Amino acid sequence: MNPFIAQLFSRQRIPGWRQLIQWGFVAWSLFLGIQFGLFVRYYQSGGQTLYYPRPPGVEAFLPIGALVSLKTWLLTGHFDTIHPAALVLFLTFLGLALLSKKSFCSWICPVGALEEGLWKGGHKLFGRNFKIWNSLDILLRVIKYLLLLFFLKLILFDMPTQALRGFLAAPYWAVADIRMLYFFTGMSLLSLTVIAVLALLSVFFQNFWCRYLCPYGALLGVLSFFSPLKVRRREEHCIACGGCSMACPSRIDVQQKGSVCSVECTGCLTCVGTCPEPQALAMRLPLWRRPLPSWGFALIVLGLFCGGVAAGMLTGHWETSLSHLDYQRLVPIAERLGM
Ligand code: SF4
Ligand code: SF4
Repeated sequence: MNPFIAQLFSRQRIPGWRQLIQWGFVAWSLFLGIQFGLFVRYYQSGGQTLYYPRPPGVEAFLPIGALVSLKTWLLTGHFDTIHPAALVLFLTFLGLALLSKKSFCSWICPVGALEEGLWKGGHKLFGRNFKIWNSLDILLRVIKYLLLLFFLKLILFDMPTQALRGFLAAPYWAVADIRMLYFFTGMSLLSLTVIAVLALLSVFFQNFWCRYLCPYGALLGVLSFFSPLKVRRREEHCIACGGCSMACPSRIDVQQKGSVCSVECTGCLTCVGTCPEPQALAMRLPLWRRPLPSWGFALIVLGLFCGGVAAGMLTGHWETSLSHLDYQRLVPIAERLGM
């Protein structure tokens, strides 16, 4: 094999590949955000500015509404037409977790990428990242599950079908994406302070938000337990150097595991890239001795993501049913529309 290509596909290149994809998604999210901002500005200005089409991908930021859509779809067969991409993307990310661990968190999520950038910056600055004591770490990790339970109880148990229909038909849901844009463009001092504190904590502690507070990650983590693809260690090849355990940003003691079943594993492959023994550690299917090459895992993650989006588009569940006239009416009053 050509030495350049061989180097590109070497084990040490795994984090590089992942970061390329991860930051590609950050750039894409930014692009969608700007395009959506220009779309909204067109209606705010009464059609005086240049028109940009609305990118349905922004609905990835509406996971709570997507959960309402999912329950409605399962109970009534009605697939939400206001923000269909929200449900398509939500289902895609659930599928990713079921098949390829919490790969959404370390390969796709822009928040995960920004957080990783912060703790890597902190590592450069202080020569290390700090670790919260084990007992406090366990207690803090419970928070994201409590938040998840709160949303699951609220939506899956407490909302009857009529309330679900009412939510999806309400003007509030129609402008949920616009209000989310306003949250980012007009942040209150309180929101800014909370984000600054979380960012600062992320400089010191690896993945602070993801590890302790993100209910979306908690949900994906629970599903990822069933993923057939897992990091698996072959004891006969392992030289017990401990490199994998030291490198894992999710604090998993990989060296002591046969298969990494932990709900905290994000499939980032950092441990695999660190392992000096080519046969010892890899992403593998159960009962399948051959390791899945890391570029193969990257292709699976990207393939599942693109497959989910393509399925949504091809089945007509991607573009909103809201019309030009609806946006002319809704955008100017979006800020005043409450639940
Ligand atoms: S076990 Fe490996 S793949 Fe999983 S989070 Fe840790 S370093 Fe990443
Ligand atoms: S890095 Fe590889 S060789 Fe070292 S302990 Fe982990 S699996 Fe074994």
